[in-house]
Amino acid sequence: MEVSREFVYQKFADYYRNPSTEIPETSLPEQREFAYLMFKEHFMVRHQRYTEFKTFRLNLADIVPSDVYHSCAYYENPDFDMDKKGWLGADLVFDIDADHIPTTCNKIHDEFRCIKCGFEGRGITPEVCPCCEATKFETKIWACDLCIQSARDETAKLIDMLESDFGFTQDELRVFFSGHRGYHVHIEKDIVRSLDAMARKEIVDYVTGLGISVLDKEAKEKRAAAKKFSLHNFGWNRRLKLGMQEFLHKATKEDLKAIGLSNKALLQNKEIVIKLAISEGRWESIKGVSVQTWLRVAEHIRDIQSSKIDTVVTTDIHRLIRMNGTLHGKTGLKKIEFPAKDLQYFDPFTGAVAFKKGKVKVLVSEAPEFRLSGETLGPYKKQTVELPIAAAVLLICKKRAEVVK
Ligand SMILES: [Zn+2]
Ligand SMILES: [Zn+2]
Repeated sequence: MEVSREFVYQKFADYYRNPSTEIPETSLPEQREFAYLMFKEHFMVRHQRYTEFKTFRLNLADIVPSDVYHSCAYYENPDFDMDKKGWLGADLVFDIDADHIPTTCNKIHDEFRCIKCGFEGRGITPEVCPCCEATKFETKIWACDLCIQSARDETAKLIDMLESDFGFTQDELRVFFSGHRGYHVHIEKDIVRSLDAMARKEIVDYVTGLGISVLDKEAKEKRAAAKKFSLHNFGWNRRLKLGMQEFLHKATKEDLKAIGLSNKALLQNKEIVIKLAISEGRWESIKGVSVQTWLRVAEHIRDIQSSKIDTVVTTDIHRLIRMNGTLHGKTGLKKIEFPAKDLQYFDPFTGAVAFKKGKVKVLVSEAPEFRLSGETLGPYKKQTVELPIAAAVLLICKKRAEVVK
């Protein structure tokens, strides 16, 4: 194994072998599948069963995996083949990752290259190569403050929906930084365990704002629509109403243009428009503002207020998810839980740092400016620097640095 990789492996080993490293116990470990990615061999070991969590905890010190997972599902026989496991239920989980959020920074710091034909670009990695239709890419992605803030905003919207619309309390929502550039929200209550994939898809549709009835295609028929466009005061309807009020209150000609509208009537006497149409529900009372216009505004608010979760994760009732307290192989940061109310204050670039002591000399090929443990580092380009261990591990995992002998 090359020097830099060996260095990271040693640090991961120190972490898992240190008895004071806290890896919180998962609920019902005896019913879960455990899995891990081998550091050196790069393959996934799955279908592991541990009747006691502490045995698994001890094993981590021997194995030193690059990534550690457990199933969201509970099984009669977690160590059997998938079709023989005997599914008993699953936690309801949400994954919010900057990979799925169009940010302004991903065009700056994310690159992808098709392994088959070499097609390359910046921004979100496509699912399929536009040139050769291959699906494997080499990627170089980064996690900056803007990525984290975007993921945090999407998580805040999700938490608000789970509380206000679904009636979960903050204590029932377990919120984690994922270890890379996003957040996980787990709900482990009995009431969600038996939900099947279809039921979970309904929840996903709700959270992402898919198929809200006021936006129905049928409602676009002119006359019927006038009757149909109405918003009540609960859930998405309330969210749209408040969002439309706020949007109109601040809207300029340019804001309307950006969503394809050029309706002057919306901007003259704004407060009257807001009062009559939105507050009192007399949508037809504003001269020159059609139902189609209201639909367009509502659609825009839906886009803003929906939460950009990774929909596949929530609907997959056999999903493996990173284990709390373990390290992310692409960063060396740990997945860590914090109270839902602390979402805006919890700083992953401090709170999720696993390596707190020591320095090492590395040759950095290229890295933007970044923050870690309260220090601002970089930017670096083709230079040898002495860095705190956590920063060196991050850059090596991101293939941007090598240990200097
Ligand atoms: Zn290609
Ligand atoms: Zn970013």
